[in-house]
Amino acid sequence: MGFFEDFKNNLIGQYEECEAYRLVCQQQGFNPYTDLKYEDDIDYVPFLVTTVFKRSNGLFTKLLRKNLDGILKWTVSSSTSGDPSIVGRTENDIQVLRNFVEEDDKVFRKRHDYECTFFPLAEDMKAFGRGEFLGKALESYLGNILDIFTYRDDTIFLLKPSQNGFSVDVDSFIRYIMEHDKKDHYAALGGSTPLFYKTVLSLKEKIKPVELGEKAIVHTGGGGWDGRKGNINIGTMIERWRFVEDVSKFLGIPEENFTDTYSFTENSFTMTGHYSKEYRDYIFHVPKWAKVIIRDFKTLKPLKRSGDRGLIQVLNAYGTEGFAGASILVDDIGEIVDYNRCPICNTEGMTIKIIGRVKGTEAKGCGATLGGDN
Ligand SMILES: [Zn+2]
Repeated sequence: MGFFEDFKNNLIGQYEECEAYRLVCQQQGFNPYTDLKYEDDIDYVPFLVTTVFKRSNGLFTKLLRKNLDGILKWTVSSSTSGDPSIVGRTENDIQVLRNFVEEDDKVFRKRHDYECTFFPLAEDMKAFGRGEFLGKALESYLGNILDIFTYRDDTIFLLKPSQNGFSVDVDSFIRYIMEHDKKDHYAALGGSTPLFYKTVLSLKEKIKPVELGEKAIVHTGGGGWDGRKGNINIGTMIERWRFVEDVSKFLGIPEENFTDTYSFTENSFTMTGHYSKEYRDYIFHVPKWAKVIIRDFKTLKPLKRSGDRGLIQVLNAYGTEGFAGASILVDDIGEIVDYNRCPICNTEGMTIKIIGRVKGTEAKGCGATLGGDN
């Protein structure tokens, strides 16, 4: 079946199984049986904002589509505010996430014979903050994604568990870039943007730039562009173009070889973008197994033109069997690059830029759509 039919089935399931979502629909006069007939009707599907999943709201069980027995585990976001999102998932949800991350990886992951990453081992990430919550395991969402990434047996994980979190093994990083300097190897680097950037900025003062060459790639993920991630704070927002230009210069890797993966705990798929020198930004491909709507900050009307900016809504047809994740509004701002294709590599499908987190009044606007539920 196509996306629309699958999405419709998923939404009807959510409407039937999650009373909280059904109430939101009823408040908005939306009935998926009668109001979701054509693809264009998707624009009217009520959404939940990501903030309802925050621990402080205490709604996590109300946002499930199953009783607790049907849930495999809780996945938790890496929070800077101490108020993470908590999302219950079934075994099948984890499997769908796995399939989508692997597909995304296949499209974007280039050959790499060597690799070092500013991520910890998936096991260490999952173990960090692991706990039990209402009788089920509670694990880092990012750790679950890292678990899916296919690393090499000899990948160097630069984040090592330390007393209060993780610390960067800077010496191994220096050794890695020296070892591949001017060798034109298929060398990959990646991981957490703020840690990667912080390390490069500090080394710029101490050692000469290297030349890893045309075949080297940089793949970041896990967010942190606001300069913060978990208990890490580099004190400043990171502009994407500045990160790419600085790191590209220091490591001698072409800017076009930079990719970034966007994900958030309430979603069932990842989105990867490749950097464009022309756009001076990453161009994210919306995968064909999902849909994204960019909504006006004030009116929340769907926007369709290139250059339009607004709040990001994701529509999931798959992988939200356990929780009410079929239609989610994120507190991130997106900009439409092209509604139908990628202007750089010509791949079919919508392309967007990720601009950053919603702040202040814009955030209030999207909270208001909850009808006082937050
Ligand atoms: Zn592209």
